[in-house]
Amino acid sequence: MKALQKTAPGVGNVELRDVAEPTAGHGQVVLEVGYTGICGTDLHIYLDEYRCVPPVTLGHETAGTIDEVGPGVSGWSVGDRVTTETYFHTCGRCVHCLTGAPNLCPERRSIGTHVDGGFARRLLVPAHRLHRVPEGLDLRAAAMSEPLACCIHGLIDLAQIRPGDTVVVSGPGPIGLLCLQVARAAGARTVLCGVDGDELRLEIGRAVGAAHAVNVQRESLTALLDELTGGQGPEVAVEAAGAAASLRQCLEVVRRGGTVVQVGLYGRPVEVDINLVPMKQLRLVGTFAHVPWAWDRALELMASGRVLTAPLVSDVAPLDAWEAKFEALRQKRDCKVLLTPLG
Ligand SMILES: [Zn+2]
Ligand SMILES: [Zn+2]
Repeated sequence: MKALQKTAPGVGNVELRDVAEPTAGHGQVVLEVGYTGICGTDLHIYLDEYRCVPPVTLGHETAGTIDEVGPGVSGWSVGDRVTTETYFHTCGRCVHCLTGAPNLCPERRSIGTHVDGGFARRLLVPAHRLHRVPEGLDLRAAAMSEPLACCIHGLIDLAQIRPGDTVVVSGPGPIGLLCLQVARAAGARTVLCGVDGDELRLEIGRAVGAAHAVNVQRESLTALLDELTGGQGPEVAVEAAGAAASLRQCLEVVRRGGTVVQVGLYGRPVEVDINLVPMKQLRLVGTFAHVPWAWDRALELMASGRVLTAPLVSDVAPLDAWEAKFEALRQKRDCKVLLTPLG
């Protein structure tokens, strides 16, 4: 079968090539992939800014249909519609595994970085990492459950957003647009920020419920926030751009005693004035990947219509269009692109 692989370390070295089809071993299933989203992480891997173990098939935001059930698997049948957590292997014994945080397991090996991922027709995964797609939710939406689960973990579990909070989301890419909707579903008032070139994404932000969507190069964010919060600043600022200027802005605008959530990745060290963290007594919260219980909430938020994903999906393209789509995403001409092996 054709699979989009990182073939060797270094910049580039990504190609669509023929690989052997997987078969399900003990406790495993093979999915017929429906859709797999292109993530910022995939772009970082292309640019050699995120660690992976080549040769490996990329793609970790997948939904599909069970095609083969291995021995020792119960509760799943061929034809079931599912999404999958990205953890192919965790140790099951460390303090993180034992406290429900497999994202922090030092032995964690994930699909799309360490083992073959979803940019292919068939995907091998452990059955205990599957989640059933609710009736009425399509596979395109279900493919967004991984990034949505990441946002839920960061904003609800870690930043602990409360009803009535004002939340600034800096960076209107797919992750920012999902964070925005999670904050809104949690009862917060939301302000989405972008820069020149983000017009399409800010417009999508308005369409999915941002109370305000601001190009900070054209309008004063500080003036808007002062007006909304009586000069106090927002309780929470979410850095979802992966840009140093965005993090500086978050540290500056958040209120004293507030929380900055670091979601974005930079691919390299960045320079900010960390003095603001003690001087303003900020909580700087990092969040990495997702935890199992965030998935059920992700699927529920999408099934109930409180998080919309269709407006974020600017294109659905065949696997062999990957190169043009990586470039379009890099240039922000697309928002979220799903690749499909279905042709
Ligand atoms: Zn992702
Ligand atoms: Zn572990």
